Amino acid sequence: MKIFTNIKELQTDILQCKKESKSIGYVPTMGYLHEGHAYLMDQARKENDIVVVSIFVNPLQFGPNEDFESYPRDFERDQLVAQNHHVDYIFYPSVDEMYPNQPSVSVSVVDRTDVLCGKSRPGHFDGVATVLIKLFNIVMPDKAYFGMKDAQQVAVVDGVINDFNFPIELVPVETVREEDGLAKSSRNVNLLPEERVQAPAIYQGLKLAKEAIVNGETDPNKIVNIVESYINDQTKGTIDYIEIYSYPELREMDKLTGKIIIAVAVKFNNVRLIDNLIIQLKNE
Ligand code: AMP
Repeated sequence: MKIFTNIKELQTDILQCKKESKSIGYVPTMGYLHEGHAYLMDQARKENDIVVVSIFVNPLQFGPNEDFESYPRDFERDQLVAQNHHVDYIFYPSVDEMYPNQPSVSVSVVDRTDVLCGKSRPGHFDGVATVLIKLFNIVMPDKAYFGMKDAQQVAVVDGVINDFNFPIELVPVETVREEDGLAKSSRNVNLLPEERVQAPAIYQGLKLAKEAIVNGETDPNKIVNIVESYINDQTKGTIDYIEIYSYPELREMDKLTGKIIIAVAVKFNNVRLIDNLIIQLKNE
């Protein structure tokens, strides 16, 4: 496994791989790797000659009062995880390497960002799109792997790839969970012990919503109420949002039909957690 901190050096190596017609699978991450990330790496390993993982906590996608400073980091451990999952290259740039000077171009995501995390984290997806455009140009992957835990991010990445004509196949990967249902996340370590006990209620609430929908409930407000009362009952967290939209368009619906997403964000003391379920309804 090779570790690169320098953009040019990685690009030189990648171009050589391309000359040798090797396919490149790419997993962008912010590190503190867990089994969710590992699952993306395993998928990439199965489908590509070379697997590249980037580890970069991107300051551009954090708001002023968000957790950029306290975001967990452990590069030593990350190297072991990547090694164990047969990653070929780790790209681990510094902030200066990625953003050496004031930008001359800014990217603004204009579709599908007026809802969910786009609404509650202004500028977040502009930061995500900016870093991904750079990373895609650096890594030049054939396939890029993204987790459905961040379903809105998947929708935004789809827009980036299409709008900017990247010859990259986006591969969405299902959410990996702890045994108690909590979606694996680097941020889970920042939960206080009692919050860690309460946090699985997010997924349980989502499952209650699914059950109600499967049993015929089609009113989005009623579904939101079910999830809201459950999470409020079971946790001391503050609900940031519980929203239901068509997926992947992220449009509001009066009556649930087609493919839908129920997405939740809950704030605890030091961490904000997100989760979602995507449900395919039978059309009438
Ligand atoms: P992050 O390091 O949190 O930016 O995540 C890097 C990639 O891993 C993103 O595509 C995430 O959606 C994905 N990811 C994070 N958590 C999970 C999970 N529990 N299951 C599957 N993918 C995940």
